[in-house]
Amino acid sequence: MMNSFGASLFVLLGVLFGSASAHAVEAKLTADCLDKSRVEVLTKEFNIVTKGEATFNRCDPSTRTYRLLQALMYLQDLKLEAFRTSEFNNNFIDERPFDFFKARTRNIVVEPQGGCRKGYIAYVQMGEETQGLIHICDISNQSVFQISSTLLHEVRHLDPKDYAHIGCTHGMLMGSSGACDARYEDGGSYAIGAEFYVKLARSKNVDPVIRQEARASAVSVFQNSFNQYPLGLKQGALLKATDGRFAFYDGDALRKFPMEAAPHSLMVARIRVPTLFNRDDSSVKSYNFGARMVDTKGVFADEFRNRMSYTQQKSLVDIAYGVNYDCKLFVRSIVCETENGKTEKMLPDYKGMGLVSSKWTVSLQKGTLYLSADNGYLYALPDKFEDFQKMAPKDWKRSPGIYHTKEVAFWDINTDIVLTNDGKIRFYIKESKSWETSKMLTPYTFESMIAPYIWSEKLEDL
Ligand SMILES: [Zn+2]
Repeated sequence: MMNSFGASLFVLLGVLFGSASAHAVEAKLTADCLDKSRVEVLTKEFNIVTKGEATFNRCDPSTRTYRLLQALMYLQDLKLEAFRTSEFNNNFIDERPFDFFKARTRNIVVEPQGGCRKGYIAYVQMGEETQGLIHICDISNQSVFQISSTLLHEVRHLDPKDYAHIGCTHGMLMGSSGACDARYEDGGSYAIGAEFYVKLARSKNVDPVIRQEARASAVSVFQNSFNQYPLGLKQGALLKATDGRFAFYDGDALRKFPMEAAPHSLMVARIRVPTLFNRDDSSVKSYNFGARMVDTKGVFADEFRNRMSYTQQKSLVDIAYGVNYDCKLFVRSIVCETENGKTEKMLPDYKGMGLVSSKWTVSLQKGTLYLSADNGYLYALPDKFEDFQKMAPKDWKRSPGIYHTKEVAFWDINTDIVLTNDGKIRFYIKESKSWETSKMLTPYTFESMIAPYIWSEKLEDL
C-alpha cells in the first residue's frame, strides 16, 4: 500500500475536513450488530481494507469500518424523492444515491487512528482514480447521513473530469488550501454533498430529525464551501439592536432579519449559528434559515435552561466557544471549561462587557480570546486551559491602549468591524490605520453582533 503523505508524487485531489457543526446529531453508539448477510454482500461488492484491524467485529460500533458499513447500508436502503432542477438542486445525483457511489468506486481503505492528518474525514489521492480508491479517516463524530454524504463527495473525485478543490476565500475554512470549490453549479464534490443534503431535507419519506439536520448541513456547505456564494448569499454582520430587533448589514443595505424580537435575550454565535439565550423563559433557540427557531443542543444550552438561577442568567454577558476551551462571561466573573474541568475566576476591579475571539481580525492577535472590560481595556486570556486555571486575572496581558470594544470581527482582509461598548458600529482600516462609520448604521444602538455572518433570504426556502 502506498504511503499516503510522504510521497510528493501524489497530490491530494480532495480532502474533506471535519468542521464542528453545532447541528451535528451526536453519534449514537448503540450495540446493534450489523446484519451478517448484508455485511457479506457489501464486502463482496467493495474491496474494503481496514488498516490496523485484524478482524472486523460487526457488533462494535466504535470502529470506523462498522460506521462505514452502516452508512453504506443506509445508502442502499435510501430512496429519495424526484425533484425538479432548481437553484437548490442540479440533479447531479438521482433518487438512488447508492448507484452514484457504486458506479465510481470499488476500493475503500479504512485508515487507522493516526493514519490521516488531523481533521481529515476522508480523502482521494491523485494517481489512484483508476483503482476507484477512497480513503476513510476519522468519521467518529459524523452521523450516518453525514458519512453517506462524505462517501458521495469522495467518489466524485474519481470522475475523469478533474474535480480537485481550491483554496477557500471565505467561511470557516478561509485560507485553507484545497477545501472549497468554485461554484455550486459546477457539480464538484461539495456540490454533490450539498445536493444530497438538500434532497434528504426535502424528501418527505425521510426521518424528520434527519431532514432537519440535513438542512442545517446543507446551509453550512452553502455558506462555507463555495467561493462564489450560491443562492444570493452575502457576507455581512448580524446585529441585535438594543430594542431587541435584529438586522443584517452587508455593506450596501441594512435589512430586517427574520428572527423573533427578544429584548431579554443574549445573542451568541454557536459555531456561527445565531443562538438566543432568553432570560424571560429560560429557552435557548437557534436560527437556521427557517421561520421557526429550533431548540439548541449542547452543554451550555442545557445548563442555561435547567441549572442557572435567574440572577445568573441575568448577569450572563457573553459565551465564547474557543479553540482550546469554552467560556461564559458574567458581569463579575468568568467560567471556562473543557471536557476535563471547569474553573471560575472573579474579575478584579472591572466588569465584563464581552468576549472577543479574534480569528482573522487585523487589529488583534489572531487566535486569542480576549475579555473586554468596562474600563475600556481588552485582556488576553491564556491560550491553554491549564494556564487559565493557574493564572490570576491580574496577570492576564492587558491591551496597551483603550479599545472600548465589545466585539471585533473580520469584515474583509483589510478591515475589522467593531462594536463599541456604547453600542456603535465602526470599521477599522488596516492600511490607513483609520476608523470609518456607516451612515446607515449611525442612528441605531446595538447590543451584540455576529460577524462574519453569511445570509440570504432565499436560503429560507430550502
Ligand atoms: Zn474532496
